[in-house]
Amino acid sequence: MLHERLSSIYDNVLRRNPGEIEFHQAVREVLESIGPVLGKHPEYAESKIIERICEPERQIIFRVPWEDDQGEVHINRGFRVEFNSALGPYKGGLRFHPSVYLGIVKFLGFEQIFKNGLTGLPIGGGKGGSDFDPKGRSDREVMRFCQSFMTELYRHIGEYTDVPAGDIGVGQREVGYLFGQYKRITNRYESGVITGKGLSYGGAQVRTEATGYGCAFFVDEMLKARGTSFDGRRVVVSGSGNVAVYAIEKVQQLGGVVVACSDSSGYVLDEKGIDLDLLKQVKQVERHRLGVYAERRGEGAAFVSGQSLWEVPCEVAMPSATQNEITGRDAELLVRNGCVAVGEGANMPTTPEGIRVFQEAGVSFGPGKAANAGGVATSALEMQQNASRDSWTFEFSEQRLQTIMRDIHGRCLQSADEYGLPGNYVAGANIDGFKRVADAMLSLGLI
Ligand code: GLU
Repeated sequence: MLHERLSSIYDNVLRRNPGEIEFHQAVREVLESIGPVLGKHPEYAESKIIERICEPERQIIFRVPWEDDQGEVHINRGFRVEFNSALGPYKGGLRFHPSVYLGIVKFLGFEQIFKNGLTGLPIGGGKGGSDFDPKGRSDREVMRFCQSFMTELYRHIGEYTDVPAGDIGVGQREVGYLFGQYKRITNRYESGVITGKGLSYGGAQVRTEATGYGCAFFVDEMLKARGTSFDGRRVVVSGSGNVAVYAIEKVQQLGGVVVACSDSSGYVLDEKGIDLDLLKQVKQVERHRLGVYAERRGEGAAFVSGQSLWEVPCEVAMPSATQNEITGRDAELLVRNGCVAVGEGANMPTTPEGIRVFQEAGVSFGPGKAANAGGVATSALEMQQNASRDSWTFEFSEQRLQTIMRDIHGRCLQSADEYGLPGNYVAGANIDGFKRVADAMLSLGLI
């Protein structure tokens, strides 16, 4: 339910951003959480902080022409939404996927504001991407696309202005091509302009693993708060990209048994527990579909297509593929099958109905803004290392990540408690992230 004033703000968002349904969904979730904050802090409403937060500071849309290996010319659309710079330079990844349009970039950018605030690190919120589909494209085609994309983007970004990174469809390979082109155009080795770089050219230890590891650390904290742990628990992780692979790795190290993961072609059920080396080989090195994993793994592993992954019984679910992948019905199924904790590795993977089902059933539900913040937090550590021309060890970096995730978990619980919603991580994350940004905006005047 929305507070009266918030309801009129939401109506305005709907009117000003027609058809951008994912953006509407992300805004509504935050507005539903911050009603109680407005009662305690009238100064936010007086300065129209919420209206300001819902309107990006700047939105850039550009043409990206490129040539494929056959010499055919393609035109894609590029985006960068610079949402909020109250806490630091705009920070957030780039997504290359055919589903990308302004509404997706704005939902991601909006989420990023609060997620980044919640980390406690000096980073604002932004997001970008393109409707380019990297699937089936050669290395050279991806390189030419990235170079064309950066040929426009470079004039909008910078170490102190806007710092992109990866997201779906943008990994270390793409970041390398993007950084290479930025360096070439500007004639500056400005390491801090993009994060998620390779270790040989200014990248940071643990950045690749950080989103997945961080999500596992967050769930570990939620399980501890329930008086239990990952030890021996059945876990299902959706996706098999960067976030999923490293979530699986850390869950296994913490004693959990990951019995299923997925890609857009279906899911694999592997009762003995996912063979991570094989998964990495198939998905990351050879870039095959998951069916190949099941074939090579042999007996005990089955590939299933055309059905929901969430039918696999588990005690912990970690949706790490994409937005709105757990519906209300999926959530009901998970609850019925004994799921006690959900940690979102992806951005907004659970629909509003799904979240309601989990919360009413007493499932510990860690929203992406909190549970997947380890990726962007480690990006901020990469910026820190670049600024000081330093590089930290894997062990030290992982320790930092674990502490950051523990702090985020604690802050969510504390804010939820303070506003009379104990155990509600969604409210806690939104309230804490919002207050940090709102207070900075008040201090900075009418920006
Ligand atoms: N794309 C990631 C996210 O959703 C990481 C962004 C970054 O490192 O800037 O938070």
